Amino acid sequence: DEWKEKGAAMGIQKDVDANGNTVTRVVKKGVKDFNFGRTLGEGSYSTVVAATDRTTLKEYAIKVLDKRHIIKEKKVKYVNIEKNTLNRLGEHPGVVRLYYTFQDERSLYFVLDLATGGELLGFLKRMTTFDEECTRYYSAQILDTIEYMHMKGVIHRDLKPENVLLDDQMRVKITDFGTAKILDPPEKTGDGTNGDSANGAGSYPNDQTEGDDAKANSFVGTAEYVSPELLTYKAACKASDLWAFGCIVFQLLSGRPPFKAGNEYQTFQKIVNLEYEFPKGFPPVAKDLVERLLVLDPAKRLSIEHIKNHEFFEGVEWGRKLWKQKAPRLK
Ligand code: ATP
Repeated sequence: DEWKEKGAAMGIQKDVDANGNTVTRVVKKGVKDFNFGRTLGEGSYSTVVAATDRTTLKEYAIKVLDKRHIIKEKKVKYVNIEKNTLNRLGEHPGVVRLYYTFQDERSLYFVLDLATGGELLGFLKRMTTFDEECTRYYSAQILDTIEYMHMKGVIHRDLKPENVLLDDQMRVKITDFGTAKILDPPEKTGDGTNGDSANGAGSYPNDQTEGDDAKANSFVGTAEYVSPELLTYKAACKASDLWAFGCIVFQLLSGRPPFKAGNEYQTFQKIVNLEYEFPKGFPPVAKDLVERLLVLDPAKRLSIEHIKNHEFFEGVEWGRKLWKQKAPRLK
């Protein structure tokens, strides 16, 4: 039903009139309003294309989803979660913003912020590892965005360096909300990082509860960042995102995720047994932070407030300033 309106969707456009006043217009946008350009990437049931609004000349990334394929692969639920989550999140510099959605006979279209830099993982692979300054810069923006998502009642549940995109100024833009959990209602404060469990959560295990073919223990996504509580209790909470955050900090500094094995089962074994090692030369202050995040009991993991005050983030100016600073040269 949400998709009933064919060809176009409402969007808010802010313009400045001849007198310099800001005017807000409700505009309908459709496929015809955009010039489609180069393909930015392909997902398992979507293609992301760079596009320009013919009227405003603003550039976007448009995610094109093939309706038949989505229905056949039973992904309708995930597409709706992605749309609803992005709509709830609205505007934050660290979240890929959804501007319009529309459809035609064949496809669904999501008009998103363009992240010209691509995936953080790509930069990490090119550099092999990041130094402490770069790790602090990227992970501080990731953390600030997690705090915002949690405050809005959203658990991402699939944080990893592939899902951290970068804009033209190398600022973080988190994407891929297809497996997010919307907590209802959102919390008034952003401090409760633990406790609010979302049952059957995440892409681990597959929680297509309304699907008739729901298979227990069938897994989708990447195994390396899944939290132990999801594996043991099949429940994710806000702190599960902080487990993934700990994995990301470890990976940026060492070039590989902490828990990695030949297959998913072995990776899961390592996770539930907290079996990982720091490489030689891993900075001690960062080691202390990671050790306080990779804690099996989610209630004992560092809270966002405590992470911000950890020595590793000393000197970081949180809030708006975090998004105004120049990105450090990659090294
Ligand atoms: P899957 O659906 O298989 O998990 P995915 O989540 O990567 O894959 P998409 O979200 O369709 O699938 O993204 C496909 C590719 O397009 C990704 O590799 C990503 O780097 C790129 N991409 C996605 N969104 C944007 C964006 N807003 N700006 C720039 N590139 C993007």
